[in-house]
Amino acid sequence: MFYSDACLKYVEEVHHCPHCGERLSCCHTPPFHVGDGLGWGTEVLFVCLNDECPLFVNSWQQFEERYGHAASCRYILVPGEKEGSAMMVASKEAFTGCIVDPEAFKAANERYAREKAAVAQLDTCVEEENLDPVLTLILDESAKVEHRKRAVELIVALNDLACIDPIRNHSFRNTEIEQLVNIEIDRLLRNNYVKECPDCLEIVKAAAKVCKHCGRKF
Ligand SMILES: [Zn+2]
Ligand SMILES: [Zn+2]
Repeated sequence: MFYSDACLKYVEEVHHCPHCGERLSCCHTPPFHVGDGLGWGTEVLFVCLNDECPLFVNSWQQFEERYGHAASCRYILVPGEKEGSAMMVASKEAFTGCIVDPEAFKAANERYAREKAAVAQLDTCVEEENLDPVLTLILDESAKVEHRKRAVELIVALNDLACIDPIRNHSFRNTEIEQLVNIEIDRLLRNNYVKECPDCLEIVKAAAKVCKHCGRKF
C-alpha cells in the first residue's frame, strides 16, 4: 500500500465520533463518491465504525421505514475539517476493509523517511563517493519516480561498479526505471573497460575472450 505525505500526516490524528464518543478509524478513501461525483479530494477519511453508534443504529431503522431498503449512515470526517457528516453505507462492512493498518503504516512511514533522507543526499553523493542514497532510491519501488530518475542519472558520475550487483538482484516493477538503469549501467561498464558476462553476470574485462568465472566464450 502506498501512503502519500498527506496520508502519513493524518494517520496519527485522533478524532472522536460526536454521536457515540468512539475514536474514529482512519480509512482509505473509497474509489467512488456517493455525492457530487467530484471525488473526495483526500486519500484518507476518519470513520466511526462502531456498530453500536446511535447514528448507525437509528439510520438502519429510518432507511428501512422511509425507503424500504437496507442501508445506514456512518459518521465520517474529512481530514482538515472541523465538522463531519453522515455518509450513507449499504452494509455494515463498508469501510471495514479500508482501515489503514498501523503496521503497514509504520513500515510505510520508515520507507518514506529513508526516501526523504536519500533525496537530501543526492546533491552531494558524487563528491562524497556515496553510493547508498542512489541505490536506496533505485531499489525502492515505492519512491517517487522523479526521485528514482534523479538517482539513475548519477550512476555514471558515481562510477562505482559496486552498484551493479544489488541492481541485478532486484526485480523492477517499474519497467521505465529498469530500462533507464540498464542504459546507465551499460555506460558505466564501457567507461570502466569492462563488460558483464551474460551467463554468470560477473564483470570481466571488455577485451576478454573467455569469462574467467564461468568459462563462457565471447
Ligand atoms: Zn459513532
Ligand atoms: Zn561468466
